[in-house]
Amino acid sequence: MPKRLKGLWIGGQWVPTATTFEDLNPADGSVWAEVPDASLTETTMALRAAQQAFGAWSALPFQHRSHLMIKIAEVVERRKDELVEALRQEGGGWIGKGMFEAGYVPEVFYAAAASNYAAMGEVLPSESGKFSLAVRRPMGVVTCISPWNFPSLLTARGIAFALAAGNTVVLKPSEETPYTGGLFFAEVFEEAGVPAGVFNVITCSRDRVQAVGDELIDHPAVKGISFTGSTPVGRMIAARAGAHLKKACVELGGKDALIVCDDADLERATQAANFGSFMHQGQICMSVEKVLVHEKIFEPFLQRFVQRASGLKVGDPSKDPSHIIGPLINDKQAAKVKQQIDDALAKGATVALGGGVNGRYVEPTILLNVTPDMLVYREETFGPVVPVIPFASDDEAIAIANDTEYGLSSGVITRDESRALAIAHRLETGMCHVNCSSVNDEPHVPFGGSKASGLGRHGGRWSHETFTETRWITLERGGRAFPPMF
Ligand code: NAD
Repeated sequence: MPKRLKGLWIGGQWVPTATTFEDLNPADGSVWAEVPDASLTETTMALRAAQQAFGAWSALPFQHRSHLMIKIAEVVERRKDELVEALRQEGGGWIGKGMFEAGYVPEVFYAAAASNYAAMGEVLPSESGKFSLAVRRPMGVVTCISPWNFPSLLTARGIAFALAAGNTVVLKPSEETPYTGGLFFAEVFEEAGVPAGVFNVITCSRDRVQAVGDELIDHPAVKGISFTGSTPVGRMIAARAGAHLKKACVELGGKDALIVCDDADLERATQAANFGSFMHQGQICMSVEKVLVHEKIFEPFLQRFVQRASGLKVGDPSKDPSHIIGPLINDKQAAKVKQQIDDALAKGATVALGGGVNGRYVEPTILLNVTPDMLVYREETFGPVVPVIPFASDDEAIAIANDTEYGLSSGVITRDESRALAIAHRLETGMCHVNCSSVNDEPHVPFGGSKASGLGRHGGRWSHETFTETRWITLERGGRAFPPMF
């Protein structure tokens, strides 16, 4: 029996819709839930509810908003097992991925609660002795559009700091994960007793997403947009927001490199490559999408990497916890990954491991002899497929790593920290992790990309800056005379 969802969450009420759409379990294609399909009418209702709630919510003493963020964190903690199971079934993820994600979400709300206790502005010097202040204030309604790969984590990141700062929110989760990225949070907010209209959730099918998405930007009440998803959609969102002069924080795709230097700890390098390339079937924006290995250690590294990756079992993760590699999210994504493998092989690449595609299940795949004319070198794969490419010098490794339109994250494995920092400074990525894979996230850090990987930062005080506006306020104290003719 598909899960019954109560409706959209608008103005503190469950609102049913005229039609629903199917939410599939990607592991076997069964219908996991019937989901409300919002139209423009419900979208506008949600935006109005958020607009009406803004005055009272932003006027609350800051600690009251923090207390509610803590309550939300506690409700999620209590419902952790339920969330892990839903993540496994709705998103097709391994249990370990679900445990990590469900454990991370409360941390985001705790960090958002804490962000309200930090300094909110600055006292500036004044040429005429005024008391001069730079202060931050909430903007109004913030809309959040989130993706399916880490649906709960990425929704939490998009909404928690914006709400804590005093904005109200309308959330639209991905149509692939409308529960774990959306209506689960509506249930949590209802239980935590968050005032009506402060947080609203609308879910809609892919057919309606263009119209609904446009309204989430165009409506005059909307002052800021948090978008996490693909670069093509993010570009459209940022352009549309820009035309209205609205702030958009867009976190997009990646083509991250892991650079393994000749002095690397091979065990550490192999684990970083294996985890970074294959965790959640490579469906992480910061997945390792190119492993660059110094030619001196290429063979021993490859041998270890192939051996370690060959131990990752493929299968339905809800049937067996040892199935680490589950299905890709949908047929379209599986077809795209297969196309990249076929294209590479047709152009001369060879397979060191895997290569098999069985429906939505793709084997962990390691490719050799990959060249810049291949799709797998240039385009985001978002699947468990990774090329291993040799390099002869740090300059060459940096050039290959930067040879992409993306710039999200990166990893460098070396025993020499000075060398690591020198490389990190030259990589055109928003984030870089030394002696680790490119996959890293914490709730309070400046998370975000360069180049086509995004604009703006999510996390901690950077989220606070993103979702507030700065105002200059002065108090005159007799130091600024007007010209006498006035
Ligand atoms: P997507 O761009 O297809 O969808 C993201 C969200 O945008 C979904 O909610 C979707 O319904 C919505 N959307 C789609 N078309 C829209 C439109 N015209 N107007 C408004 N909204 C629209 O991305 P996805 O497939 O859900 O996620 C995978 C992508 O997200 C990958 O490229 C991945 O790298 C990226 N991602 C980035 C980060 C990051 O922090 N940088 C994190 C996770 C995923």
